[in-house]
Amino acid sequence: MTFRREQNVWIPESDLEGMSVDTLAVRAGQVRTGELEHSDPIFPTSSFVYGSAAQAAARFGGDEPGNIYSRFTNPTVQAFEGRIAAMEGGERAVATSSGMAAILSTCMALLKSGDHVVCSRGVFGTTNVLFQKYMAKFGVETSFVGLTDLEEWAAAVRPETRMLFIETPSNPLCEVADMAALASLAHANDAVFVVDNCFCTPVLQRPLEHGADIIIHSATKYLDGQGRCVGGVVVGPSKLMDEVYGFLRSAGPTMSPFNAWVFLKGLETLPIRMRAHCDNAVELALWLEQQPAVEEVFYAGLQSHPQHELAKKQQSGFGGVLSFRLKGGRQEAWSFIDATRMISITANLGDVKTTITHPATTTHGRLSPEDKDAAGITENLVRISVGIEAVEDLKTDLARGFQALQNPSNGNV
Ligand SMILES: *Cc1c(COP(=O)(O)O)cnc(C)c1O
Repeated sequence: MTFRREQNVWIPESDLEGMSVDTLAVRAGQVRTGELEHSDPIFPTSSFVYGSAAQAAARFGGDEPGNIYSRFTNPTVQAFEGRIAAMEGGERAVATSSGMAAILSTCMALLKSGDHVVCSRGVFGTTNVLFQKYMAKFGVETSFVGLTDLEEWAAAVRPETRMLFIETPSNPLCEVADMAALASLAHANDAVFVVDNCFCTPVLQRPLEHGADIIIHSATKYLDGQGRCVGGVVVGPSKLMDEVYGFLRSAGPTMSPFNAWVFLKGLETLPIRMRAHCDNAVELALWLEQQPAVEEVFYAGLQSHPQHELAKKQQSGFGGVLSFRLKGGRQEAWSFIDATRMISITANLGDVKTTITHPATTTHGRLSPEDKDAAGITENLVRISVGIEAVEDLKTDLARGFQALQNPSNGNV
């Protein structure tokens, strides 16, 4: 046992102080083992052994740091947590089994019965269900407000409000929230300000620098970037993350070592992927704006976008998701989607492969007609998560959609 421990000397991570997010994405969080492997190792083990009964007792008692059991201590998962925490500029990250588990764990750790949450109306559909159906069962009430309407936010806050929750930019209409203003509102009321940073990733936006307390990620999207694994992560100050970690240790919505390893590999290419997504999306948005069959394009990179200036201030790029309204209704939107031949028809986003979806009947299909109206989810709305294929080929494929609208009879050949 002693021999094994000596051989397994951990080499400290390289000095990354002050380095850019591009470098942190490749280097942060890795702790080499005595094997001196270059790539990140993977530790698919449920438990760990001790040198003695006394050491086991010290580990369990929290008197000695070290691995115990992979529900709450796994070196591959910790490497992923270290890397994303460094990229977001947060003190600590806690990895979870999915993006929804990240949101659930944050709520369970930081809220109690009688507390109140204010949440933006356009959040991810399942987030909506989590607050409205499940958190409500445990006495946590949620009010939903328009993402960009600061007066509505201020009016919704009550003495018992303990959390403000947003996504920015929003899905699918790409509205951009003023994070500094919402942070002030939260802090004046002793509430935490939580930002789901799934759409931008730390490469394009670091909400902690704009006053956010906690960042949520669905790692399933851009962090993986290649559609392989489901996972999530929460980032923030140690004081709050210790609570989230405590919930995870007790309740178990843990990230697996294999998934953590895939996400570590994903993060290495995240900066160059995000730039490719942004470049393609800007060009497609401008091209879509010129199409006669398009009524309106929603993308914060367009001059016409109402929060274009705010997006430029908060983000270093406008992201890979855009949406647009076609002239017509559901039939036109479906014909357009069905006429594409390369782009994947799927509601997933953040993949290197471009995806297309009809929000009103998929991602936002569970909303009532009134809620759809309030959120701007009309029947003629189409969302694209722009991938990294050649943009000319994306235009060629989308042109098939426009062709089908001009010529409905051969739209589906
Ligand atoms: C997908 C998504 C989630 C949920 O993440 P899962 O990994 O699917 O659980 C949360 N927020 C946003 C913005 C998402 O796109």
